[in-house]
Amino acid sequence: MSVTELLSWLDPVEWSKYFDIPLSVTCFLIYFIVFHIACAFFGIADHYKLLRKYKLHESDEKTYLQLLPRVVFNQIAFYLTSCYIGEKMGWLFRSPKDNAFQLWKLPIYLTLFSFYHEIIFYSAHRWLLHSKWGFNLLGHNVHHSTKGSVGISQHYMSVIDYYLEIVVSILVPLALIRTNAYFDLLVMVEDAILGSYDHSGYDFFLGNLKRYSPAYHSMHHLRSSCSYGDGVGSLALLDNLFRTSYFHFGYQSFPKVKNLVEKKES
Ligand SMILES: [Zn+2]
Ligand SMILES: [Zn+2]
Repeated sequence: MSVTELLSWLDPVEWSKYFDIPLSVTCFLIYFIVFHIACAFFGIADHYKLLRKYKLHESDEKTYLQLLPRVVFNQIAFYLTSCYIGEKMGWLFRSPKDNAFQLWKLPIYLTLFSFYHEIIFYSAHRWLLHSKWGFNLLGHNVHHSTKGSVGISQHYMSVIDYYLEIVVSILVPLALIRTNAYFDLLVMVEDAILGSYDHSGYDFFLGNLKRYSPAYHSMHHLRSSCSYGDGVGSLALLDNLFRTSYFHFGYQSFPKVKNLVEKKES
């Protein structure tokens, strides 16, 4: 098999043609599989107590399997349907053949995406979902019933929360940038890996990346009134601008939580 044949075999556009399904559905399925492989990896590691050296805390009461049904329902009912509608409207998952872009523009598009995403995510999270009236009314208490130590809890949310923090904060920036299906898929897959890592309670860099450690979002789940940005992979512009990162409040460690994994000094 030649390299060109191999590449076309790996191409979601070719899969869509072959199985005769919309490109948005193919891209969503790839995203869905990557997300669930990542979450199963964290779920298995938790269950068999693997990779203990990297586990920061185990504060969650709900297990991977208890969280799974609501997550799958959210993804199919709200995320997949929004991807499909976005494609039908011509906003998302545009054919790469008609909307090819040069590879050197990729960092520009990624930075632009992060910028739009940060503004929507932070604003909705801090000023709507964490407002006095909004926390229960908009259902953010559902996501906060998890504590950031089970990967799959990234998508454990109420309907409004799910639309604001996942569907709108990812698909609207992609629709504004309007590149093509490859870029849309790349962003979704990146979010599948980094978002589940963010909620896993693992830090594979043992705190060396500080701001880009899952400890950042864990601190949000455990202390609630800090670190409103999207954790690993985000630009963290607004947490820095408004001085709302956990370290701006002087927090150095997690509050006393159940099952904090004790680290032995070596
Ligand atoms: Zn929150
Ligand atoms: Zn979270």
